[in-house]
Amino acid sequence: METDTITAISTPMGEGAIAIVRLSGPEAVAISDRLFRGKDLNLVDSHTMHYGKIIDPDTGEMAEEVMVSIMRAPKTFTREDIVEINCHGGLVSVNRVLEIVLETGARLAEPGEFTKRAFLNGRIDLSQAEAVMDLIRAKTDRAMNVALKQMDGRLSHLIQDLRQKLLETLAHVEVNIDYPEYDDVEEMSHEMMKEKTDEVHREVTKLLETARQGKILREGLATAIIGRPNVGKSSLMNALVHENKAIVTEIPGTTRDVIEEYVNVRGVPLRLVDTAGIRETEDIVERIGVERSRQVLKEADLILLVLNYGDELTEEDEKLFEAIDDMNVIVIVNKTDLEQRLDIDRVKALTAEHPVITTALIREEGIDQLEHAIADTFFEGELDAGDMTYVSNVRHVQLLKQAKEALEDAQNGMEMGVPLDVVQIDVTRTWEILGEIIGEAVHESLIDQLFSQFCLGK
Ligand code: GDP
Ligand code: ZN
Repeated sequence: METDTITAISTPMGEGAIAIVRLSGPEAVAISDRLFRGKDLNLVDSHTMHYGKIIDPDTGEMAEEVMVSIMRAPKTFTREDIVEINCHGGLVSVNRVLEIVLETGARLAEPGEFTKRAFLNGRIDLSQAEAVMDLIRAKTDRAMNVALKQMDGRLSHLIQDLRQKLLETLAHVEVNIDYPEYDDVEEMSHEMMKEKTDEVHREVTKLLETARQGKILREGLATAIIGRPNVGKSSLMNALVHENKAIVTEIPGTTRDVIEEYVNVRGVPLRLVDTAGIRETEDIVERIGVERSRQVLKEADLILLVLNYGDELTEEDEKLFEAIDDMNVIVIVNKTDLEQRLDIDRVKALTAEHPVITTALIREEGIDQLEHAIADTFFEGELDAGDMTYVSNVRHVQLLKQAKEALEDAQNGMEMGVPLDVVQIDVTRTWEILGEIIGEAVHESLIDQLFSQFCLGK
């Protein structure tokens, strides 16, 4: 059990008018009281907020005007005493306050250490802790909702129910073996065991089916805009970025600095792939060649293929159609304001069942329909998609796959008539694997690794 008091700035750097320095641990209130001029913080009620000043203990000078929240254990996020010092004065003042707090006896928290304490003190389970991290990184409201639900314990409850089912069958087999003389306990049969494992198998499979959407919500739908030069790729990208607030992230250290741009299209985060390429050279195909662009396309979840309504279909267009044959494609026929020269029947034939959207980007026409089509490829007609429990975490997906395999081993064993006390081994393994999702019996080094991915101050 950790006993020191940790601190960090818990609001995003450089953003917002208010910044918060958070402390957690047994000395949180005492340390705060030492550098606070106002009420005696040792005496105030829990979960109250107080106006006062932060004093530099070295010089006795007033550093900042603040509001201080006192929250005593155990009804706090970490289940320890928590103090939050609200500073309104930007980066300089909050850093100053943090410095003073550190000088007064708190230790700088490691990334994710607050959440780690919440987990270690039993306040949240591991899948909830991971949801905190997803929440910090969420790029759209919908992604945020998924994270919030997971934090709320939705996935945990589901997993716990499944484990409970398995545990009951295991206990049942145990009783049959240990107390064969108990006539009033029905003998567990292969049929009963199969029924239970089938049930859990179905639920696990269902969860795994949400992984695609979960991954997209988490990482964005990798989207490539392709087409011949001059058809309107840049215009399309600008329209998407303009209509939807773009989030730009630079990833340094890659061979060529890839600039990723996220746009939020009706709750679906699109990650526009290779936008630097489109911006700089105006043409991805010309720049890297058809072969190489095929590779880029393979990594995309969604292809936006742009054609020119005012131009005849070329061999290059046909090649692009070939390259994207079995992919998730939306065909965009742009420049419908021009006189038609494009053979639409030919386009429809090449397009097969992919949606075709017509636009005149220069007049900002057709963007709405395009956004609809994009959202449809994600939700696939599901009405209450916002209410689903998605699995979005790579670790969870991996464990669910393992659980599914273990269940299938059990099912195969039963089919071959293997005795139940042997089948039990696979069922027990399933139970353990599911436990790892919520952090029961997880290895200590894994815990460190997981929490080290967090932002500072969470
Ligand atoms: P890219 O080379 O595929 O990226 O094409 P751009 O987006 O750079 O557009 C090439 C040219 O076509 C620019 O001059 C655009 O203004 C123009 N353009 C884009 N959309 C339309 C449209 O809907 N109608 C017309 N007439 N011109 C357009
Ligand atoms: Zn362009």
